[in-house]
Amino acid sequence: MSKLPNVTTSIFTVMSKMASGYNAINLSQGFPNFPVDERLTDIAARLSKENVHQYTPMAGYPPLMNKIAKLIKDSYKRTINPDLELLVTAGATQGIFTTILALVKENDEVIILDPSYDSYESPVLLCKAKPVRVALNDDYTPNWETIEKACSEKSRMIIINNPHNPTGKILTENDFIQLKNLLEKYPDIIVLSDEVYEYITFEEKHISAHTKDFLLDRCIMVSSFGKSFHITGWKIGYTIAPEHLMKEIKKVHQFLVFSVNSISQFAISEYLDVVDVNLLGKFYQEKRDYFQKLLQNSRFELKPCEGTYFQVASYANISNEDDVTFCKNLIINHGVAAIPISTFYSDHKDQKLIRFCFAKDNFTLESAAKKLCEI
Ligand code: PMP
Ligand code: GLN
Repeated sequence: MSKLPNVTTSIFTVMSKMASGYNAINLSQGFPNFPVDERLTDIAARLSKENVHQYTPMAGYPPLMNKIAKLIKDSYKRTINPDLELLVTAGATQGIFTTILALVKENDEVIILDPSYDSYESPVLLCKAKPVRVALNDDYTPNWETIEKACSEKSRMIIINNPHNPTGKILTENDFIQLKNLLEKYPDIIVLSDEVYEYITFEEKHISAHTKDFLLDRCIMVSSFGKSFHITGWKIGYTIAPEHLMKEIKKVHQFLVFSVNSISQFAISEYLDVVDVNLLGKFYQEKRDYFQKLLQNSRFELKPCEGTYFQVASYANISNEDDVTFCKNLIINHGVAAIPISTFYSDHKDQKLIRFCFAKDNFTLESAAKKLCEI
């Protein structure tokens, strides 16, 4: 008997595999294709010959933990105690999984906002808890009324993803006011805030859960160096939670991975002394603007993109096919891979929308756009 009967291979794997099979330009799975900062690869190359190859302490390499605490302080003016409130994880994925496994019990309910990233539901199901999927509004803002209606005494957690994959939407001050009101009515609900794209916002500033006092003792925040430093394959990130929740999260982490691979922890610890995360927003804003300009004369209709490195586009003017079929045919007939948005919904709602990843060098964006403009 399967513990996850409805889980199939992730759409990111399916589309990337198909893209490579057809030699298509891969704008599906979210990963950059440009070179990593040489300062980071130089550090890693040098460190590989040093004494960095054994287990680090369970929760992380202490100098890295201090630097992450400094990053949080510099970014959000929040002081955390790295010994008690911080965990280095094997990517945000492990932070999410570990947090849910540690804190959600059988029959609890967890609110997930659709469209939603694919890592949230399975750990909830493995806890024998119930995912409660609540649709965002058509403009991808949270509908706080329907979220509140979905809450009950069984609700244990609400998961927010800000900036949002796949829509590129970011939460506003008003959203946090609404969240505060909701949490006042439900004192047992905790918040899991997935902020892996925290440094990738454009016209509007990212508002982090770290800056909201009402969240500090009931929010778990996950982030990923994969996104911030263009190293998705390194699988390293971190989770921050108040001591009483982190104590439980560490119990699971201890037996899931014990500690994260040492060399990447040593390397990122050094790199954090020289890198400026605040340059990331401008870097990706230029990519977004360039990609949008290249697609200006296409028949795709581009949706607003406030953050992340994803652009949602409607193909309603081009085809009547459902979005999964459209994406498959886009690879086969036009040589470009994208992600169908319906796969982010529990009811697979087809809205003729697809997601392009623009974390690509300009040549790739130009080559893809040329093909997309010919459709
Ligand atoms: N959350 C979101 C919203 C993501 O898009 C991703 C994908 N990278 C992750 C979590 C997972 O991050 P990581 O690769 O660090 O596990
Ligand atoms: N986060 C990536 C995306 O949204 C996918 C990561 C993965 O393949 N698991 O494209």
